[in-house]
Amino acid sequence: MTIKKVSIVVPAYNEETSLKVLVDELNVFLNDFEYDYEVIFVDDGSKDNSFNVLKDAAIENPKFKVVRLRRNFGQSAALLAAIDTSTGDVIVPLDADLQNDPRDIPKLLNLISEGYDLVSGWRKHRQDRALDRKFPSMVANKIISKVSGINLHDYGCSLKAYRKEILSGVRLYGELHRFLPILASWNGAKVAEIAVNHKPRVFGESKYGLSRTYKVVLDLIVLKFLSDFSTKPIYFFGGFSIFSFFAAFAMTSWATYLKIFKGIDLDATPLLIFAAVFVIVSVQLLLMGILADLIMRTYFESQDKKIYQVRESVNVEEKQTANSR
Ligand code: UDP
Ligand code: MG
Repeated sequence: MTIKKVSIVVPAYNEETSLKVLVDELNVFLNDFEYDYEVIFVDDGSKDNSFNVLKDAAIENPKFKVVRLRRNFGQSAALLAAIDTSTGDVIVPLDADLQNDPRDIPKLLNLISEGYDLVSGWRKHRQDRALDRKFPSMVANKIISKVSGINLHDYGCSLKAYRKEILSGVRLYGELHRFLPILASWNGAKVAEIAVNHKPRVFGESKYGLSRTYKVVLDLIVLKFLSDFSTKPIYFFGGFSIFSFFAAFAMTSWATYLKIFKGIDLDATPLLIFAAVFVIVSVQLLLMGILADLIMRTYFESQDKKIYQVRESVNVEEKQTANSR
């Protein structure tokens, strides 16, 4: 598959010193880049001089574009702003802090040309602190792979390449950008992983710490739920509801048996209390499932979202195959 234009997107928050170096590095690298390209920098509400550095770079090189957000919205939002602005058919996010190496980009693009929809970088020799960055990330990557069924070594690496079409309809709430390979793959994308360079951070400081871990876990739970049950949440809640109902039924039967055949009074065991609790839980879960089902319909229908994704079609008019956003 041919690549027409590559959009390199760079979210940046308080990275003025790194950005100066990065702009030079990119200018050199892009000089003999074999594809048409643009670079979209998103200044995510920086409080330092980042925006002016970027503006100067954009004045020098018209292929450098800058989007400045009104305040700090976070890396996912910045990334999405860049993707919305981009005009290329392949998107390559790159960190502003010089930890990624632009010279890895052609390797990623080669795989895209070979037919992959998403190529994910793997920081095989990651240059970050072991205790609070590499170790939690290793555990997280293992869990994410297990839960999602998509095996990557490194979800956290920013340097990736996406065919733009697989991103249509994908919304990045919270910090979901790291889960893009999963979202894309669930949408039917072909995903590959390739080892990339990683350098220690020299200027400025990391915007993240250990506190990111719990968000990753919560995001994963939401994702798993959405993937398995988003079009039919009643199956999830209803399953537990039915289980709960049968538990109540079994306990009531047991209590009745004890009363009739063993002469043990109904209030001599806590069985009936448990049964009552399970009945209430069962009814609540059922109602919750019905509500979730209603909300799901509103979600899909209000945005005219499709519950399927078309890869390609023959002799079918565009309107019928378009993936709605
Ligand atoms: N970033 C951003 N907005 C934020 C936090 C981070 O645009 O609120 C950018 C940051 O400038 C960098 C990239 O996201 O270009 C990755 O952030 P960082 O290097 O702090 O993460 P780490 O590499 O330590 O995981
Ligand atoms: Mg970094």
